Amino acid sequence: MEKIRLRKDFVDERSVLTQCPVCDTYVHQEESFTCPRCNKSPLCRKHRVPGRKECASCVFDLTRKELDALRRQEESLQQFLRFLQFIFLCCAVIFIALKFGMSEFVEILQHSQLPTYIMYFSIIPVAGYILFFLILYNQRGKVADMEHQIRKLEVRR
Ligand SMILES: [Zn+2]
Ligand SMILES: [Zn+2]
Repeated sequence: MEKIRLRKDFVDERSVLTQCPVCDTYVHQEESFTCPRCNKSPLCRKHRVPGRKECASCVFDLTRKELDALRRQEESLQQFLRFLQFIFLCCAVIFIALKFGMSEFVEILQHSQLPTYIMYFSIIPVAGYILFFLILYNQRGKVADMEHQIRKLEVRR
């Protein structure tokens, strides 16, 4: 008599369980969740990311997209830094040329205040370089953080 009742309980228990579409584990209805992005349900807790509503697979995709955007931004920042370096180099070349008396040969360069102007003007690319270098540095920190996140998510997918 006792044995039969136990078996009945077991059968009831099975009917409440459903299979997780990702890892095929049986999950309790109350312990599962639905991802609002890909609508997969019932997902087991293993695919839940702390602080997020989406499943690990969706968070992984979103993070990867963000990471790609950040990397593209990083590339254009580096290009801009190279451009600033170029401007600074031009300033330096003109400045040195003026100091060595090039102005005697080129008429436009004969303005007596020109070396001073160029010296002041070269501050712009230098200041810009420092500013954008700091932005790039900050960006790299973010990228490293996201790469770490992605590696952790990969296991939960
Ligand atoms: Zn699962
Ligand atoms: Zn999802």
